[in-house]
Amino acid sequence: MTHDNTNKHTKAYPLRRRAALAQTAIIAVIVFCFSFAVIFFNTYRLNAQLEDQITSISRLAETSLASSVWQVDHASARDFIDAMLHDESVVFAQVVTGREVMASRSRPKYSGQPFNFFKNDRKFLTRTVEIKKFGDWIGTFNLAITTARIDQEILINISATLILALVLILAISQTTISFARKRLFNPLKYLEASATAIADGDLDAAIDTSAPDELGNLARAFDDMRESVRHLISDLQEANGKLQDHRNVLETTVKKRTEELNHKNISLNLALEEVRKSKQAADVANLAKSRFLASMSHEIRTPMNAILGMADILWETKLTEDQERYVQVFRTAGESLLEILNDILDLSKIEAGHLELEKTSFSLGEVIDKTCTVIEPKAKQKQLKFECSVRPDVPDRLVGDPTRLRQILINLLGNAVKFTADGTVHLTIERAPGRDGEAILQFSVSDTGLGIPTGKLASIFDSFTQADSSTTREYGGTGLGLAISKQLVQMMNGRIWAESSPGKGSTFHFTARFDDPHITEVIQSAKKPTPQPQAELPKANILMLEDSKYNAFVIQTYLKNTPCRLTVAENGADGFEEFKKGNWDIILMDIQMPVMDGYEATRAIREWEREHNLTPLPIVAMTAYALVGDAEKCFETGANLHLPKPVKKSSLFDIIRSLLGDEQPTHGTSNTPQAHELFSTVREIVTAAHTALSREDYASVRTLGSDLMDEGIRLSMDAITKHGKSLRDAATEGTAPARIEQILTVIAEYIDRFETV
Ligand code: ADP
Repeated sequence: MTHDNTNKHTKAYPLRRRAALAQTAIIAVIVFCFSFAVIFFNTYRLNAQLEDQITSISRLAETSLASSVWQVDHASARDFIDAMLHDESVVFAQVVTGREVMASRSRPKYSGQPFNFFKNDRKFLTRTVEIKKFGDWIGTFNLAITTARIDQEILINISATLILALVLILAISQTTISFARKRLFNPLKYLEASATAIADGDLDAAIDTSAPDELGNLARAFDDMRESVRHLISDLQEANGKLQDHRNVLETTVKKRTEELNHKNISLNLALEEVRKSKQAADVANLAKSRFLASMSHEIRTPMNAILGMADILWETKLTEDQERYVQVFRTAGESLLEILNDILDLSKIEAGHLELEKTSFSLGEVIDKTCTVIEPKAKQKQLKFECSVRPDVPDRLVGDPTRLRQILINLLGNAVKFTADGTVHLTIERAPGRDGEAILQFSVSDTGLGIPTGKLASIFDSFTQADSSTTREYGGTGLGLAISKQLVQMMNGRIWAESSPGKGSTFHFTARFDDPHITEVIQSAKKPTPQPQAELPKANILMLEDSKYNAFVIQTYLKNTPCRLTVAENGADGFEEFKKGNWDIILMDIQMPVMDGYEATRAIREWEREHNLTPLPIVAMTAYALVGDAEKCFETGANLHLPKPVKKSSLFDIIRSLLGDEQPTHGTSNTPQAHELFSTVREIVTAAHTALSREDYASVRTLGSDLMDEGIRLSMDAITKHGKSLRDAATEGTAPARIEQILTVIAEYIDRFETV
């Protein structure tokens, strides 16, 4: 504890001094007042005495001098005056009549002075007395008395009183001061010293508590306070000790917890590492799943291709009624199998984020018609009524993905027909409110079928889930349709839900957002492929590299009775040898083959062509139901076109016609025009983007970026989609024109690579 002691003392002493001063002042005032009263009273008394004296002389003169003046008795007048002058205070006496000064006498000190001299001097008291006889004035008596004696008496009186007053003041103040010092200030100082010592931490400092008065009480209160402080300190020390103990315990606990936390952290990191590894494993597994699905697709589709192709070919031959029925079963079963396969692939593509929606201008009416052609026969078969109502405000032209919209509708309507024994299946389309430039449509499919239990309404949208396990037995199905529909609806920025009363029927609703057709129509019109005139097939020497005998047989059958000649090689290596013999117009290249796969064979062919200065041949890559990336990979290795399996007769013929046209190309025809055609839209978009950029029209550049993305999706070329996205994002963010130019150059270079293959 640090206290400023000096400060305390400087405060204590002035109090004592001030008290002494105040005491002295008060005493002085009282004593002086009293003294002045005494002085005033004495002065007044002495003056009154003098006045009395002169009054009694005057009366005496009045009576005594009347006869002397009347009789003009100078001697008795003089005697009277002499008698007056016996009084030491009388300095002048005079008797005056109308004729003369009868008698006059003054002290030798003032001899010769007239009466007026005394009258005008304040050191004298004068009086003039009229002497009368029978009421008439006969003379005047003038008298002067000196006030010197009285004045002296007054002076002595004042001096004595003041001296007495001073003595009194000194005596009283000394007595009170010494009393105050002894009884008040000394004990207070002692108490202060004790308090200071206590304040400085000396709790054992002595306190005098013996006084029986208030100071004694104060001292005792101090003593009690000291005792309380002692207790407080000991309590505090105890609490401090406890606190210290607690802190020690706390520190130990924190240390322990920190160690535990560190351990847990380490375990968590290990767990995280595990999770990371598991995720990696899951990613690898997912990749493996995708690969497995791709290869399974190929493996299953290859024989499927053959079965369906053969069934088609068989259907075109002359058959008996029974045979026709059998072939029909073949075709139906094959198509169902293909549908299931497509469902599985669709779902895995969506789950892997590989499915991109098309964005094209289409007619809703056409989509409904095409859907009805599939559903109506099924409904008719079950003798169900099938109705379709489209509200008048629903626009016919929309921009979106018509194929996927049809897929959802077929799924829902197919289910409605499947799960309804009798009654009606109804499709309603209405418009929901939306923003400018978009159309939100709500599709509702209701039926009068068996319905769905309320508890199952939400879960039926999960993959491989059916409302009732007996469903599979009775109606077939995989439980994938609704899961795919849900994903597709979400991709169309909509939602899907179901309402149902078990036993009475169900209604499935979904909404989907489409763009306003006017915005994209112009660009879309440029994208529409030029319809190929249905002409006869040109003469062509076709080399096919295909390991599946069935597939080769199907293609061979397609080309039977056409001017085309097909040669088949069973793997890439054999095909390459065959190619080297020359004289080919088109190469059909399967991708997955033993010994040497399609990519390698294509590369070898392109290399050979370069080495021998040959003009590149058109190579058509054939892959099973393409996963995104397959087509692009084919183009990168040097193929010009991509034909997904199962190959349809019409698609094959279209390709041959478009590659060779009317003119009969020889081996080594220059660069295929198809590459130009294939990328013509991309080129148009790039040119349009250049023009828009020169006008700083970023909005158009952004739209063109989106179009490029769509074109990439249409061509199944991931790189173009990615460049489109970069272009769109750059325009949205208002990136520097130089950077956008750079993106456009990269795109141009990219498509140039294919065109020079
Ligand atoms: P699938 O029909 O192939 O089994 P979905 O995903 O299309 O698979 O349907 C899942 C399940 O939802 C069906 O198995 C059925 O139990 C139920 N479900 C779907 N649509 C209807 C409907 N219209 N009426 C009754 N149940 C339905």
